[in-house]
Amino acid sequence: MKKPGPVGAYLIDIEGVLVRDKRYRPIDGAVRWMNALAEAGRPYCLVSNNTTHRPGDLTDALAGLDFPVDSNHLVGALGLGMAWLKERGKDRIRWLGTPALDSFWGEEGFEIVTAGPCDAVVLGANSFLEIAALDAVLEPVLDDGADVVCLHRNLFFLDGKGRRRLGPGVWAVALEALGGSGRLITIGKPEEGIYREALKRVGVAPAEALFISDDPISDLVTAGRLGMGTAFVLSGKYPDHGVLARLEEDDWPDIVCSCLSDLVIEEEEKF
Ligand SMILES: [Mg+2]
Repeated sequence: MKKPGPVGAYLIDIEGVLVRDKRYRPIDGAVRWMNALAEAGRPYCLVSNNTTHRPGDLTDALAGLDFPVDSNHLVGALGLGMAWLKERGKDRIRWLGTPALDSFWGEEGFEIVTAGPCDAVVLGANSFLEIAALDAVLEPVLDDGADVVCLHRNLFFLDGKGRRRLGPGVWAVALEALGGSGRLITIGKPEEGIYREALKRVGVAPAEALFISDDPISDLVTAGRLGMGTAFVLSGKYPDHGVLARLEEDDWPDIVCSCLSDLVIEEEEKF
């Protein structure tokens, strides 16, 4: 059992920490651990790069598995990305993420266009993305100055069958290389904004937070650099700590453990 030290609030990744993959099968012990956390009265927040589910569906699905979460516990790249676009009046978009969310964008006041000018090209995880869809955004990116909004830049994700699939981070690199005149921004992890939003939600300073994730590269490096404690669980993308060889030692997580239930929840109020 590992002990993370004084923790005022927990920031928790979903896939690979609470559930195995896009099929949302709970990881052994995770439901019990989360309920113990809730009973201990510790603030917590899910920090997710999920771009394949409506935020409400995501928390409903987790609640249906008996995780003690509702929409107030979620800070997600999809919601923050929509807010970023709305604040700037960018409501005509090319959506390269999953077609399952087309209607959600519409309900939120966006127009998804498939030809002609647009305000922004928006990237999310999409198992069905075809090269032709990327070809189709060359015109808005190169000729019209459309922004490229990457909801996140994960290089791969695990699909419903647990297979690794290329993620929006790969397409973001390709679109960035084009050098269009619009902005290219990233909303989700590893950009700082989503971490700061999550800290606001739980109301603690970075040093009082522990960030738990199965992805030390995309999720934990930023958390550590912002001053948070970091815990790398081996229940998701990486089955062992070999991936840490790809990081500078300063960016290594504070804790490496097999899964969420390997972490001790402190009983005494420290903050
Ligand atoms: Mg994950």
